[in-house]
Amino acid sequence: MMLRRLTTWCVSSALLLAGCTAVLPGKIHPPVRVVRVKLVADSVLRRAEPRWRDTARDLLRAASDYYEERFGIRLAHQATEAWRMEGTTSSSVTLMRWLKRSYPRAGGDTPHDVVIGLTRQPLNFYKGGRARADRFGNCTQGLGNYIVSHVGESFDYDEGELTHDAVAIIHEMGHLLGAVHTDDPESVMHRDFELRIGFDAPNRAIVMANRLCPFARPHRTSRLSEYSRGQ
Ligand SMILES: [Zn+2]
Repeated sequence: MMLRRLTTWCVSSALLLAGCTAVLPGKIHPPVRVVRVKLVADSVLRRAEPRWRDTARDLLRAASDYYEERFGIRLAHQATEAWRMEGTTSSSVTLMRWLKRSYPRAGGDTPHDVVIGLTRQPLNFYKGGRARADRFGNCTQGLGNYIVSHVGESFDYDEGELTHDAVAIIHEMGHLLGAVHTDDPESVMHRDFELRIGFDAPNRAIVMANRLCPFARPHRTSRLSEYSRGQ
């Protein structure tokens, strides 16, 4: 649990502390882009975590602060609700398919651009990993609309403090905005979801170029492959 929370990790080393403070600038006001987000939690998470609504909201706040500080992108909460999905699976690919079936309308003129499905099902790395985006967004087809992410613990957000669960959502949001995996050990876009807070320069350029692009419209999303490419 040594790396469970970012602030603990930061203060463990004077060298790393300097790095942490250097990458936590203030928010960009006003935000350049506001992304409307619906949070849904499956029955496994709701049963395991009585405070699931607070945890979900705090995870989104953490991700929003991250993107607002670096890119001027605010992740605006639209709703938190129970995901009426029955069944169990260890595959995030299957969960993504179920999420898109449960919430077929996102983007365009709907009330939300992005739906984040939160779960505590025991997801298997070899069946898609602990988190997943529906696809890599771009300006031609639109930005991605769906994230599935495992929530392993309750979360009370203190500003600037991140956990593995928060980093996973930040990573997947990067995919919706077009970011791809990197081998940069400091970047949240590294594929292993360790506690990293940097955003590598090539992916930063992608997000800056895409941040004002439209989200995919519902009819377009439904035509996309049901098997997501991002993790
Ligand atoms: Zn990924």
